[in-house]
Amino acid sequence: MRSAVMAKLRFILGDHLSRNLASLRDIDKDHDIVLMAEVGGESTIVGFHKQKLVLIYSAMRHFAEALRAEGITVDYVSLDCPNNTQSLDGELKRALNRHDVEAVVVTEPGAWRVRALMDKWEQVLGVPVEIREDERFICSHERFSAWAKGRKSLRMEFFYREMRRETGLLMTDSGPEGGQWNLDAENRSPLPPGHRAPERLRFSPDAETRRVIGLVRERFPDNFGEIEPFSWAVTRHDALRALDHFIAVALPGFGTYQDAMKSGEPFLHHGLLSAYLNIGLLGAAEVCAAAQRAYYAGDAPLNAAEGFIRQVLGWREYVRGIYWWKMPDYAQTNFLGAQRDLPWFYWSGETDMNCMANAIDDTRRHAYAHHIQRLMVTGNFALLAGIEPRQIEAWYLAVYIDAFDWVELPNVHGMVMFADGGLLASKPYAASGAYINRMSDYCAGCRYSPKVKDSENACPITLLYWNFLIENRRVLQANPRMAMAYRNLDRMDASAVQGMQQRATRFLDGINAGVTTTNPPLQGELDL
Ligand SMILES: Cc1cc2nc3c(=O)[nH]c(=O)nc-3n(C[C@H](O)[C@H](O)[C@H](O)COP(=O)(O)OP(=O)(O)OC[C@H]3O[C@@H](n4cnc5c(N)ncnc54)[C@H](O)[C@@H]3O)c2cc1C
Ligand code: SF4
Repeated sequence: MRSAVMAKLRFILGDHLSRNLASLRDIDKDHDIVLMAEVGGESTIVGFHKQKLVLIYSAMRHFAEALRAEGITVDYVSLDCPNNTQSLDGELKRALNRHDVEAVVVTEPGAWRVRALMDKWEQVLGVPVEIREDERFICSHERFSAWAKGRKSLRMEFFYREMRRETGLLMTDSGPEGGQWNLDAENRSPLPPGHRAPERLRFSPDAETRRVIGLVRERFPDNFGEIEPFSWAVTRHDALRALDHFIAVALPGFGTYQDAMKSGEPFLHHGLLSAYLNIGLLGAAEVCAAAQRAYYAGDAPLNAAEGFIRQVLGWREYVRGIYWWKMPDYAQTNFLGAQRDLPWFYWSGETDMNCMANAIDDTRRHAYAHHIQRLMVTGNFALLAGIEPRQIEAWYLAVYIDAFDWVELPNVHGMVMFADGGLLASKPYAASGAYINRMSDYCAGCRYSPKVKDSENACPITLLYWNFLIENRRVLQANPRMAMAYRNLDRMDASAVQGMQQRATRFLDGINAGVTTTNPPLQGELDL
């Protein structure tokens, strides 16, 4: 019999796992139905890291259980359900045949492509579809537009200061706590010898997660990365424990050692919180508040608390703002005209460059590498080698547990590849082997030497660095922040420069030589 009150179908995607989600706000537990669907069609296309798939599917299942425990009706379509169409459109359509509802309510997705699909649902499916703004971010679309509109420079630092003022985080009556907005200059130390990174809280898979591990192993055997040990949190309860543990043991050193790298130590003092933030198990405001509390309680120094808050309140909100402000055109630019195919070793890790081998190995084992490994190792190499932006973007999207289009794209396209011509970064983050040698122990275990430029042992990163400057002189030389680099280049002996360029070219010609397998197809995103 038809109910007098018409129900709504609330479609919750895989990165929407927050109880305070806009589309769950006014749920009518007696009538409404929550739809959740594990759609895996596209995950085979890009070879997503197995741990990323396990995290999302397991966290979805746990979230569904938590909703059910509240008395909410959840219609859950698992990956191996025989009729699963493996697409969001398909599952919504099927659900509308199962349920008599007056409307669909959904929160906006994290990818422009999915948003474009959603915008058509009302017309295609013949049912009202309400798409609500994702209110879990501190800065709304409207607020970001108001900040960005008409500005000549969209630098993160200015945005960050406004966000500090508006939220009051680390603010006093007279200005920023400690008198300075940004303590980044204090946050660039390498690890001192013998420094021990704190032990991190990891979580043993429960029965549900073990079922998902089995499913992912069976369905996606050839996807990138190790599936076990899987020790990520899959519930809000455990993500909160991870947050508390980070604040207690790792935050105090977070600032000082933020840029350091060490072989076999992927986590150091980093938060390991991005995946939880991005799928909704934690909120941006609450993690910032936790760091602020630690500072005022005397448990973390200011450079740590400010550094952490700048990453979340500043960078995270800022890249999200840029993404929605500039898409879809943003993804199409290629300022440096980079065209090279992604080398196979990004997938296999088989390279003599110890820095790259380490960063890729950490990524394979944990679906994680910290910011400086992403920016200054795998990212720096891609920039210097001139990898086509689309290919390296697809790699980052596939391999990191926290990668979603809205955050991965600006970081890779803008910050790493300078493909936007400087909208996001004032200059390319190009560095030679000397930087990696200063900030890590990678060079000590490498067959190349960062100090050698003129023999077969010459560090490829250094060769590529100078080659990059030479090849991009026309578009980069006028940038005042590149002036010093070009002065250094121009001071070098011409024959030494020529020798380096020849070795760099030989190296580049060789990086895919002998690889007969093509890279995994690199189009598509994970539908959530
Ligand atoms: C090439 C490249 C690709 C990246 N891709 C992603 C991605 O797909 N998803 C993602 O969440 N982050 C991405 N980042 C940003 C950053 O590297 C990760 O957020 C961070 O490494 C996650 O680990 P953590 O939680 O230990 O971070 P921490 O070092 O502990 O930092 C704290 C938090 O700050 C936020 N944060 C820090 N830097 C950034 C940033 N540049 N953009 C957005 N948020 C930031 C994250 O939420 C992170 O959890 C990328 C950075 C680069 C250079
Ligand atoms: S010598 Fe060069 S290639 Fe080797 S680890 Fe150092 S920076 Fe990387």
